[in-house]
Amino acid sequence: MPRREWAFVALGSNIGDRARHLTVARAALAELPNTELVAASSIDETAPIGPPGQKPYLNQMVLLRTALPPRTLLTRCQAIERAAGRVRDQRWGPRTLDLDIVRFGEHRVTEPELSIPHPELPHRAFWQRELAELQPHVR
Ligand code: AMP
Repeated sequence: MPRREWAFVALGSNIGDRARHLTVARAALAELPNTELVAASSIDETAPIGPPGQKPYLNQMVLLRTALPPRTLLTRCQAIERAAGRVRDQRWGPRTLDLDIVRFGEHRVTEPELSIPHPELPHRAFWQRELAELQPHVR
């Protein structure tokens, strides 16, 4: 059995039934192979970043214990995002579900497709709050 690492994954949704998208994402993450969903933060509502006219986001962070390597976890997260897009009942849009790997153990990754820790972490107070809420579960 490969060594398991702690991974913090941020969930966001601002289209359709946002709370349901978060629920489906949590279930899908918990189903990943060699992965346990250890804890989920409370849910924050945040103002949208980017062009005007977007609805606010629901955001949440989960703590995983996983034997998947960082790049595999990214690929799996992208598959979960795509699946969420297909169950959506409203106009097509990319933000039904957004999954970001915020931290992955002590890993430092700087590749075009993957930056860990996530470069937005210093700029997103809600991620920092959610991370602090989950930190006591890391032991
Ligand atoms: P976004 O538009 O926020 O969904 O960004 C998606 C892109 O960010 C994907 O193509 C990923 O390859 C890239 N990316 C880089 N670092 C990360 C990370 N830590 N977690 C998730 N996606 C990442």
